[in-house]
Amino acid sequence: MSDHPRDEFRTQLLNHTMRFAAAYVPAYGEVAYRCLSDVHALAQLPSLPILKKSDILMRPEAFRHISMEPHLIQHTSGTSGQILHVHRSKEELAAIESFFSKSDEPTDKTTPVIISILGSTTDAIQTPAPAVGQVFRLNLRDPTWRSRIQDVVRAPWEYVEGTHHARPAVIVGLESDLRVLTALLRECSFDFSSASISSLITSGDVITRRLRRYYESTWRAPLFDQYGLSEIFGSCNQCGVCGHLHPDPHVIMEVVNPISSEPVSDGVGIAVFTTLAPFVQCQPFIRYWSGDLVEISEVSCPVDLLGFRLLGRLYKSVSLPGLTGSGIVLSAIEAYDALDDFSEIASSGMFKWLWEIKDHSQLGHLKFDLRMDSDRGSHTLVATIETRFTPHLYPEQSESLKFRIRDALCKRSGSLRESIQAGHMSLRINLKPPGSIDSFMPDMVE
Ligand SMILES: [Zn+2]
Repeated sequence: MSDHPRDEFRTQLLNHTMRFAAAYVPAYGEVAYRCLSDVHALAQLPSLPILKKSDILMRPEAFRHISMEPHLIQHTSGTSGQILHVHRSKEELAAIESFFSKSDEPTDKTTPVIISILGSTTDAIQTPAPAVGQVFRLNLRDPTWRSRIQDVVRAPWEYVEGTHHARPAVIVGLESDLRVLTALLRECSFDFSSASISSLITSGDVITRRLRRYYESTWRAPLFDQYGLSEIFGSCNQCGVCGHLHPDPHVIMEVVNPISSEPVSDGVGIAVFTTLAPFVQCQPFIRYWSGDLVEISEVSCPVDLLGFRLLGRLYKSVSLPGLTGSGIVLSAIEAYDALDDFSEIASSGMFKWLWEIKDHSQLGHLKFDLRMDSDRGSHTLVATIETRFTPHLYPEQSESLKFRIRDALCKRSGSLRESIQAGHMSLRINLKPPGSIDSFMPDMVE
């Protein structure tokens, strides 16, 4: 596909991975994968079938190594249906440990402290891999640690072993946990200029433009996105050079059309991942359908040739029947991003166990629902949105809000704007009073 160093590395591991899978994993020895052992180049991958979670759930044993014992069993979050268990063997964990330890340098003043924040309700079992710095786990569920967060972010090096010298510190965690940490600090009027945090790395939720401004101005530090699936060892990280997300070197990512599964090199499609041996051996994933929409574009970045932006879950997006290309007129993240600028829109109260927080709605998610109504060839996108006020009591304010929301959605999605202008669909905005939409879960990405 290219002579980029990352693709060279992937290509080197590709054929061995394919032959290994064909020899030891029953499903990959079947007729659908008959040309597996002949795959030597990234460009040959589209000749192989797309693998979906439902395919594995039907017969999980067929997708696992015939004799390797599981040493660690991970699972998907289950927010998008049935939970998939992922087996990891001792052999692959040892390979991960040895590969990532090579770059380890002795602890000194420049080794960063990584504050790994834990607090949300999901307990994902992570694949153990050596970190690039010394990790301190800050458990926000523990009230003792919550009472010490100001000290932790001021001098995080005091909480890791070794020398107690000031050095760079990074906060890593789910966006919802960063939301909790930031709110807790603001609640006690913490002076963020005294924090020793050089950057923030978050995953698991949508970073809207408003949220990015909020975090970066509050912490006075840049925020980087991270995206990954619990099934796949490896993730995609926001690039400091071009701003796009790039997959890790030890994982292959392709983008395919959500309807035809044909490769997409420019535009909107579904992220598809292939894991590589020796990092994954017990349960290899070959062309695994993530269910997440991304937008790729030609990037001339020295880090990686594949650069993309995340658009959220396919099933949370809105498609227009008959529309060419991806068929998507509004992705989950475009919708959330456009609506997040409106303070009039209600949000759910989350983390109610945090007694230190007075207004739990600041930790929640916007309450809205999108649905495409199709009737005899006529298509209407119905956006039902809960407001913080009762719409019929304030008719003028409601009309103005509807107008501004429509404008924001059309500005955010060119596909939506063009489809409305061309008369292929219409957009209806229904405002609902407080309490109309309950138990809202955004479920944007795995
Ligand atoms: Zn880049």
